[in-house]
Amino acid sequence: MSMPKVLISRCLGFAWCRYDGGIIPDEFVQILGKYVEFVTVCPEVGIGLGIPRDPIDLVQAGKTTDVYQPSTGMILTESLTLFSRKFIHSLPVLQGALLKSRSPSCGVGDTKLYASKYDKQPSGLTSGIFAAELTRAFPGLALETEDRLLDTTIRQAWLNQVFGEASVPRQLRK
Ligand code: SF4
Repeated sequence: MSMPKVLISRCLGFAWCRYDGGIIPDEFVQILGKYVEFVTVCPEVGIGLGIPRDPIDLVQAGKTTDVYQPSTGMILTESLTLFSRKFIHSLPVLQGALLKSRSPSCGVGDTKLYASKYDKQPSGLTSGIFAAELTRAFPGLALETEDRLLDTTIRQAWLNQVFGEASVPRQLRK
């Protein structure tokens, strides 16, 4: 039987690709890797931003959200959106996705949103550009962040969706 395919943020243990040149090793991801086939993505590196790179923010722009890089003044909304759509379109059938929390690209409902590029304090929380496009393309997908999977109830529900109720591997049932 083929293993479930899970899309995952590349910085969760696969590459030193965070804005600060870091990586986030995740014990659960390492165990999960024995039972699923990962498809990795780093949208920010995908649009040509370097490692390390200056941080980007999400800024309200009318009814939409802009991706703004304060240090350069660049608006990266279009390139990040186009990359995300093209990448998502190229994906195989997925059983789940596990993205990095709080990222302007990958965060799922927990990324800071600024009312304007001059604001120092966020006005709320939203999803990163890649995560929002993924949700739009696959509304029923088992999509979580590594942070939310620390909650055992959320983790179990996500695993059930990825593997199907009857077949979550024993080592992952905790
Ligand atoms: S959170 Fe997403 S965009 Fe940021 S480093 Fe990780 S994979 Fe790349």
